[in-house]
Amino acid sequence: MVTIVSMIKDKKFHLIIFGCQMNYSDAERLATVLKKIGYRETKQEAEADLIAIVACSVKQAAVDRIHSKIHNWQLTKDKVNGEAREGGLSQTKPLITILSGCVLDSDRKKLAHQFDLFIDIKKLENLAHDLASIHPHQKIALNDFFDISPSYGSSYRAYVPIMTGCNKFCSYCAVPYTRGRETSRPSAHIINEVRELLNKGYKEIVLLGQNVNSYGLDKKGKEISFPELLIKIDSLSKHFWLKFLTSHPYDMSEELIVSMAKCKNLNNYLHLPVQCGSDKILKKMNRHYTIADYKKLIKKIKKTFPNITLSTDIIVGFCGETTKDFAATKKLVKDIGYNLMYISQYSSRIGTLAAKMYKDDVPKKIKKQRWQTMNKQLTKQSFAFNKKLVGQTQEVLIDTVNKNATIFLNTGKLSNYLPVHIKTKQALKIGKFYQVKITEALDWGVKAKII
Ligand code: SAM
Ligand code: SF4
Repeated sequence: MVTIVSMIKDKKFHLIIFGCQMNYSDAERLATVLKKIGYRETKQEAEADLIAIVACSVKQAAVDRIHSKIHNWQLTKDKVNGEAREGGLSQTKPLITILSGCVLDSDRKKLAHQFDLFIDIKKLENLAHDLASIHPHQKIALNDFFDISPSYGSSYRAYVPIMTGCNKFCSYCAVPYTRGRETSRPSAHIINEVRELLNKGYKEIVLLGQNVNSYGLDKKGKEISFPELLIKIDSLSKHFWLKFLTSHPYDMSEELIVSMAKCKNLNNYLHLPVQCGSDKILKKMNRHYTIADYKKLIKKIKKTFPNITLSTDIIVGFCGETTKDFAATKKLVKDIGYNLMYISQYSSRIGTLAAKMYKDDVPKKIKKQRWQTMNKQLTKQSFAFNKKLVGQTQEVLIDTVNKNATIFLNTGKLSNYLPVHIKTKQALKIGKFYQVKITEALDWGVKAKII
């Protein structure tokens, strides 16, 4: 679909993004559209004529942050309309606000009327048409959403969506409602996007989907599988970093493990969310595997990739989680030895199966305590893992360079996402690979020197 929208001049937009990499990726396409209609991006909220929030209903904490933002903008709008109010942004020009992202219907009902425009993430193909309602003059043509070339936030690391939506319906999760069912992008489009990025000199490609293992299944035999896609992308260049997010343990096939082993650019890193260590809770979460299944899968993965870095997602305080269930999660986390975990305190999401069927009965205080216990355990494991790296030579991709007196403080990441701190006399180059020797372990990273 091609829609005509207006062209505006000398206006700035500011993006606020909550949630996961998928939202960051959507925001990169939204930014392109706003630029096409004439806006320039500003990192300063106070300078903006248009502010767009790419929101996340997955956890309540992110929704709460939107409410506090809206309050501030309303004060600004009131000031512009001549109503004397304390607070708000310092500007005195009209402000347009847009809401988009992973927004549950219940949150949309509470929030959307407080924005000038709501853009449904499931109907992003209507984006140009929706924007026309706020700018009805000059004209420009826009493509379908996934065909819009993103304004990548980085010049060396790119997140490339391969599919959107989810069919899994984990009982706690808002995603199947906010993003709808699984829809795969044509593999030819994905491969072209990655090829162009590599030609431009991008060093790291992260393929994105809520459950990448299901890639292509919605096309009923007319599209290649995820393992096939991975191999094709891997072969596009001799040397780059390749990762994918996220795999569901239930769908992580033997075929995928075999294909991963054939890839020469795929990083020795896998994010495999387990959510909790109790079979009783996993069943209530509708995850379709037991802890024995998960451990068997990890054993297979470690047989093929003995030094793989494993990360996971954990929810603490899910409905009915007892001290014994939580102890089972702690034991699992120790047994697997994750060195990276995204730990969330359960928050009930209206409309999900868990909200309908189970009582959110773990007190907030206990959820917080369990989160802290888990975080402490993670710090211990992470430090132990990092200590084993001391003395190793590894490749690092540089993200920031700061000067302190006569020394440059460079930070980057190892291919398994671990932060690396390097002091040098000459500044390193952001977005370039360097070989380093790891000299010291930290709780959440390592120190290294260039070799
Ligand atoms: N598709 C991925 C998977 O299957 O693991 C995860 C996507 S989800 C957007 C990211 C993470 O948010 C989940 O793995 C889960 O740990 C967390 N999450 C989702 N719903 C939640 C809720 N209601 N409360 C707390 N954490 C939640
Ligand atoms: Fe949510 Fe489960 Fe789908 Fe992940 S797999 S997005 S947790 S429903």
